[in-house]
Amino acid sequence: MPLKVLSHPLVDDAMARLRDKGTPCDEFRALARRVSVLLIAEATRDLLVNDTFVETPLERAAVKRLAARVVAVPVLRAGLGMLDAFLELVPSAEVGYFGLERNEKTAVARRYYEKVPKDLGSAVTFLLDPMLATGGSAALAIEGLRALGARNIRLLSIVAAPEGVALLEKQAPDAMVYAAALDRGLNEKKYILPGLGDFGDRLFKT
Ligand code: URA
Repeated sequence: MPLKVLSHPLVDDAMARLRDKGTPCDEFRALARRVSVLLIAEATRDLLVNDTFVETPLERAAVKRLAARVVAVPVLRAGLGMLDAFLELVPSAEVGYFGLERNEKTAVARRYYEKVPKDLGSAVTFLLDPMLATGGSAALAIEGLRALGARNIRLLSIVAAPEGVALLEKQAPDAMVYAAALDRGLNEKKYILPGLGDFGDRLFKT
């Protein structure tokens, strides 16, 4: 499974503030969006474009327009923190939703909601899930997307743990994974270390 970890001073700087437990909710949201923009720019680098022409005020210019069909699927609820950034960069994207929750005791993920555009086989599908921890929910979501016909699947995570990467290597070897940081590992409650805490709680102030 190909893994791309971003290396960029702007990502590093934003990650420093995202990780800081003293960063307030409004700034956390803005930083999550900023890191997502950088992640999405990298993950869409090879999308198909069509050559065409436009008339500038001065002359005819050869231009390229996005030709790929793009679907974004944020995993509820934390993935919502990456959706605005995605739609800013790819305004034509179709959007689906997966509701996944992990059992607090066992950390096993369960899908409780699904609403995804049809014919995913013709699309590049971006799964937005900011914390790749055990990989259980990402694997479940990728399996769900595959069952709906998706073939070209890219997972976008802000922080990834080696355990999650290893699980996806086994269970979803042909999905691409993009992460802004690859952290050390998981604690006994399956939180990423050093991580940034509970992404959904920090994003929604719960
Ligand atoms: N989900 C989170 O929000 N944080 C973690 O560290 C792991 C999973």
